[in-house]
Amino acid sequence: MASIHGDWFHSRSSSNYGELLTVRTLVRASEKPEYQNFRWSGGRDDNPLMRQFSRTGDIQPSTMQTKIRAMIRYGFIRDGNTCPLTWTRIGSLWNELHEIGNSVAAKKIYELTLSISLAIYAFNDSQQKYTINPAKGELPLRFLLNRLDNNSAISLQEFTNLVDGKTNRVGDNASYWKTDLINSGLFHESDEHLVYTGNYAELANELRNFTPDVSLEDEDWQRIRENPLIEISPFRNTIKNIFREMTQGQAIENSTTNEIYTDPLIGAISEQEETALPELDILSENPRFANNTRRIRNATWAIRIKKKYNYICAVPKCDVIGEIFVESAHIKPDSVADEGTPHRSHMLNGICLCRHCHVAFDRGYFSLADDHRVITSQRIDDIANQNLKTAIQSSSGDIIKNRSDNKMPLLEFIHYHRANKFMGQANVR
Ligand SMILES: [Zn+2]
Repeated sequence: MASIHGDWFHSRSSSNYGELLTVRTLVRASEKPEYQNFRWSGGRDDNPLMRQFSRTGDIQPSTMQTKIRAMIRYGFIRDGNTCPLTWTRIGSLWNELHEIGNSVAAKKIYELTLSISLAIYAFNDSQQKYTINPAKGELPLRFLLNRLDNNSAISLQEFTNLVDGKTNRVGDNASYWKTDLINSGLFHESDEHLVYTGNYAELANELRNFTPDVSLEDEDWQRIRENPLIEISPFRNTIKNIFREMTQGQAIENSTTNEIYTDPLIGAISEQEETALPELDILSENPRFANNTRRIRNATWAIRIKKKYNYICAVPKCDVIGEIFVESAHIKPDSVADEGTPHRSHMLNGICLCRHCHVAFDRGYFSLADDHRVITSQRIDDIANQNLKTAIQSSSGDIIKNRSDNKMPLLEFIHYHRANKFMGQANVR
């Protein structure tokens, strides 16, 4: 009879959100040249660089090592012993969401990552230890889900017996596991019970009846943990559905603040919905797929920008209208390296322009003032096309056309365009 007795991942580290934020600080520091190829996992005695590195996370070396290992285990950080620390694909999705301030989506991806991690760990009863290969033992989460009573609950007493019954570490294993279960959003504690929250019901159902593919190797399971959307991932369709639910009704878009509401998650979903690319491309580490994904994400971004402007050129006195005549223009160009707010698929880094106005904007014949009025360059006369020149010149001083959601481009992006693309100011009214 399989069980889930034995040592859970007892350590001073946990899956708490704060720990992930600490590791995020370390990831950033690890990218500095002085840490190239530095073995963060190495010996700690008399190692000044080790102390220096751990101090960037405001912690002791031993604590730092435990925290990083924990985040590797949970699937946020790629397995490895040297700097730089790198995010897994799903870890980088979390990081990107966190960076743009979409805390709602970031929290959900964090919970989902923990849930997936918990779902595919196995406990090997004969070796009394955990393995990343679910075919090699009992899956604790499946075991637990199948032990719940009619109220989808299990008493803390029974839970503790199940987990700690055969070990000397009574109390500790159960508490570590309990923390993970609660952090994942799958369970909450109530009245001396652990209660299944009903989150990810489809995933939970699938897990209850899950039989792992024995032909998959440990490395395959490591890859699945890093990117649960890859082709061999047993839960990829379910996870895709979870992504979709998360963005339904654009709840995430509306719940974020500071007008920073375009998020990588919506991009990922749109890619899935609007293209025929197989799932494995979406979160791929492979540069070939990554380029493809970028191209598609931009296409998706372009479609959404044009829709926001109802397919009308945003230049006030330009009267071009119609889906096939307008384009989406990046204000801060797509080709510019990442610095500041991620700009490539940001919904406030685009305006809908007709082909001619797009070219004139990219070449810097006109730009926008901070109040979103059109400003024109003194070189406007270089434009040979009289209609275009007239349209832009007569728009000078007018605010660009409104979007259907009344949002205006972000000043950060406008500043970039004015400083780097605009050919020089004249005619400001
Ligand atoms: Zn136009």
